[in-house]
Amino acid sequence: MRAPLPFPACSPLLTSALRSFGLSTVSDTMPDSVHPCLTCGACCHEYRVEFPVYELQSMGGSVPDALAHEVHGNRWRMDGTERHPVRCVALIGRCGKQSICGIYEQRPSTCRSFEMGSERCNQARARHGLAPLDAPWDDFPLAA
Ligand code: SF4
Ligand code: SF4
Repeated sequence: MRAPLPFPACSPLLTSALRSFGLSTVSDTMPDSVHPCLTCGACCHEYRVEFPVYELQSMGGSVPDALAHEVHGNRWRMDGTERHPVRCVALIGRCGKQSICGIYEQRPSTCRSFEMGSERCNQARARHGLAPLDAPWDDFPLAA
């Protein structure tokens, strides 16, 4: 099994992900106004993240091949979400403190369709000691 890829502060992926949210850095002191996903990341620590092979960059999609592995047939999975404790290799930060998807613009459809405030979202949050969410946001999830 490959070791998780590090995302140093100078990582172009991280820089571009942060810029998407108007941030310059990931810190422990996120302002209260930031999207709840940026202080959560529980779902990226909870679920297996699988997606169709055609979403890989090598197949014309956006997900970096180096961050995922084949499951079977045409199914691939984000590295780090196949084991326990779960932690997707693309996640940057610490669960419940600060978190951001290092490949936000390139994340798989599974993550794009995961609904913040849904039952699964709140189940993941509860398992990580975070209060449930019920307020709708227009653009989510940012960390998932
Ligand atoms: S979608 Fe829910 S569980 Fe995932 S990061 Fe956002 S608030 Fe947390
Ligand atoms: S949103 Fe990003 S960090 Fe979270 S599971 Fe998906 S690819 Fe991984």
